[in-house]
Amino acid sequence: MQTILPSLTSKPAFTTQDYINLETTYGANNYHPLDVVLTKGQGVWVWDIEGNQYLDCLSAYSALNQGHCHPRILQAMVEQASKLTLTSRAFYNDQLGLFYQKLSQLSGLPKVLPMNSGAEAVETAIKAIRKWAYTVKGVPANQAEIIVCKNNFAGRTISLISFSTEKQYRFGFAPFTPGFKVIPYGDAAALEAAITANTAAFFLEPIQGEGGIIIPPDGYLREVERICRENNVLLVFDEIQTGLGRTGKMFAFEYEGVKPDGITVGKALSGGFYPISAFVSTHEVMDVFNPGDHGSTFGGNPLAAAVGRAALDVIVDERLTERAAELGDYFISGLREIKSPYVKEVRGRGLLIGVELKPSAGGARRFCKALMQVGILAKETREHIIRFAPPLVITRSQLDWALERIEGVLMAS
Ligand SMILES: *Cc1c(COP(=O)(O)O)cnc(C)c1O
Repeated sequence: MQTILPSLTSKPAFTTQDYINLETTYGANNYHPLDVVLTKGQGVWVWDIEGNQYLDCLSAYSALNQGHCHPRILQAMVEQASKLTLTSRAFYNDQLGLFYQKLSQLSGLPKVLPMNSGAEAVETAIKAIRKWAYTVKGVPANQAEIIVCKNNFAGRTISLISFSTEKQYRFGFAPFTPGFKVIPYGDAAALEAAITANTAAFFLEPIQGEGGIIIPPDGYLREVERICRENNVLLVFDEIQTGLGRTGKMFAFEYEGVKPDGITVGKALSGGFYPISAFVSTHEVMDVFNPGDHGSTFGGNPLAAAVGRAALDVIVDERLTERAAELGDYFISGLREIKSPYVKEVRGRGLLIGVELKPSAGGARRFCKALMQVGILAKETREHIIRFAPPLVITRSQLDWALERIEGVLMAS
């Protein structure tokens, strides 16, 4: 085989600024990334093209609970990719059923409908909820209402931004999908007051992630479960960010021992390898779907199913949920010990942690930039909150390493 040697006349390698310029020249301007160009990831670490190493404290918004490029998921992906990747759901495949079974066992819900992005899983949940309202509950045609919470995040499709309360997520995208009613988060009395005979479901995050790591009061989930049961209203949780070990339970609803009628999952369902999501529910809800009602060309493809099953196996076999619980407590107390004049509150559950800064701190972004300079990648959430959500494979000594640097930044900046 001929070796290709770098030629002296060839252009020098791209710089960080070159890659940033390429993205800004040819790409839509719908994100505002930190100025770092990543090229490699392994476990909790990522490297930029200049060879700098960083601890990933964002985990792609919790899609990387298993860490970057987990070898076991990689192997499942490569093996399946060389065998069979896509059949469409016009035919059965030998991977999908095994994935369904695993996800069903872990969630305690019997039926799965696979999609790709988180937004599609939520869209699927909304379709199921509405059809249940008309065909099971007996809500009059076109009258079904879904109650959601202020400050929610469910994704970026037109229907999902229709019930967002973030101005920017909606501005310029009207007309919106009707049928949603917004109530305050963490307020069970508001739910009771909002329910009508046409209410189909209460759809909420058990902890609001994008909203700023907002943890509802103790007993809230149990209380809303009782109210939903008494009114024949479905209880559906969006576990796309909180699920799969992140908060120290497999699913965050387990903290209050409630039994939802359905959940949406995504993000860490592939350990960061592939877009995989699902709506998972009771028989009563999922039985509303008949052949032809709903679908997706890529949803449930054998590559996704093999990757998803390996990603779930890693969470269980490496005790990532238990690790998140133990190390989350450790990380939160370490963060609380930092006596920074800028910090208003440290809150979190498991390894989903928010550090809320005082308004006088000048916004979270400058702290994220300073953290990057010392080798930690984190991203602001809303304006004043720094989210710390490292991969769940992180170790105590890596957290100590991070705490030392975070303290330096929060004390000095
Ligand atoms: C990220 C997220 C979504 C949307 O997932 P996408 O894959 O970005 O479409 C939905 N709900 C919650 C709670 C999320 O955190």
